[in-house]
Amino acid sequence: MKRELAWNKYKNKQLKELESLCKGYKEFLDKGKTERECVTETIEIIEKAGYKNLETIIAKKQKIKTGDKVYAVCMGKAIAMFNIGKKPMEEGLNILGAHVDSPRIDIKQNPLYEDTDFAYLDTHYYGGIKKYQWVAIPLAIHGVVAKKDGTVVNIVIGEDEKDPVVSITDLLIHLSADQMSKTASKVIEGEQLDILIGSKPLAGEEKDAVKKQILKLIKDKYDIEEEDFISAELEVVPAGPSRDTGLDSSMIMGYGQDDRVCAYTSLMAMLEVDKPEKTSCCLLVDKEEIGSVGATGMQSKFFENTVAEILDRMDKFKELTLRRCLANSRMLSSDVSAAFDPSFASAFEKKNAAFFGKGMVFNKFTGRGGKSGSNDANAEYMAAIRKIMDEEKITFQTAELGKVDIGGGGTIAYILSLYGMEVIDCGVAVLNMHAPWEITSKADIYETKNGYAAFLKKA
Ligand code: MN
Ligand code: MN
Repeated sequence: MKRELAWNKYKNKQLKELESLCKGYKEFLDKGKTERECVTETIEIIEKAGYKNLETIIAKKQKIKTGDKVYAVCMGKAIAMFNIGKKPMEEGLNILGAHVDSPRIDIKQNPLYEDTDFAYLDTHYYGGIKKYQWVAIPLAIHGVVAKKDGTVVNIVIGEDEKDPVVSITDLLIHLSADQMSKTASKVIEGEQLDILIGSKPLAGEEKDAVKKQILKLIKDKYDIEEEDFISAELEVVPAGPSRDTGLDSSMIMGYGQDDRVCAYTSLMAMLEVDKPEKTSCCLLVDKEEIGSVGATGMQSKFFENTVAEILDRMDKFKELTLRRCLANSRMLSSDVSAAFDPSFASAFEKKNAAFFGKGMVFNKFTGRGGKSGSNDANAEYMAAIRKIMDEEKITFQTAELGKVDIGGGGTIAYILSLYGMEVIDCGVAVLNMHAPWEITSKADIYETKNGYAAFLKKA
């Protein structure tokens, strides 16, 4: 059961491919810090590769046939791509599904206030975070403000080197005797995560002069009124680009690698596979971090409706054909795994942990406390996948999320499995998962992309 480090098998050719893949990945991370930005970025990449918008195909009453590449977007926050294979859709799709939302801090609908000559934005955090990790670091604001006249203003503040950043303050250590005696979940509490955005008064104003200065600034720059926050989606994320990490540059540190590392590798695998036997499909969805809910989460009918529309454009739509297509599909639920961390070794069971550099990670099950909420893939499916990975010489490992009863987590796997299709969780191991800056191994990114491509070709 011994697993080798993938690094040991690489020749120059592979190392070059690995670096070029990771360069593209870092750019994807830097341009896509929100689900919307990731979808926009994805569309730009796939349109260059010949993917056509399903909406246009439907509007123009065009047909879809083998070899066609199509995509559909759900409210700018989720996307489904299809590379139509030689076999009938009824025989099932090979699906890669990842999520493009990441833990962050969202701005409330009535956020702006002034206190003691500071202006703040009040927030509500999104997803599972250790709140104390998000203070005293540079933060950026990304998102949209939808105005009553129908226009949508895109906002990115804090990424350009000339931009200001924003931040959440922490108490100085000198006065922290009380704070330091609190449990970590209480050191910084949810309502304390307010973003400091200004300290300069508007000339001639007495009351709330700093807040008024901020309002003038956003009016001048973006033509936004205070009331427009009501219909805004503004996400506060770590400011700055992803970076090579380690003196040997073997790793990548970046924000939102859960789950954009699986989104990007899935996307690249999708573009690599030409003329597949079965139709290839890649799903990049929203809201996984808060339970896959809403119209843009995996529980939405968006995916099913899209498959129905494609069958219709192929003159193959029947309720039964759609159901068979979904039930006969195979899926890799592409999500990150917890990487073994020697500094926190006691949280892991070493025989069943994921290690940096040991390749793509398969999680037969996720869940918590007695596998609760887990998809738990079938042994037969696991065997079929193992065979493909071995044939294609993919370095892979199997793992579970930490020791039994120490915690847990979920993915979108259980949702797709409701169609009766085979699903297994797999992806890239991550250190510092859900922290502002997460770390991955370049070798794992490369193996996972190759593993996804192998699956699309052979499953
Ligand atoms: Mn995830
Ligand atoms: Mn997560």
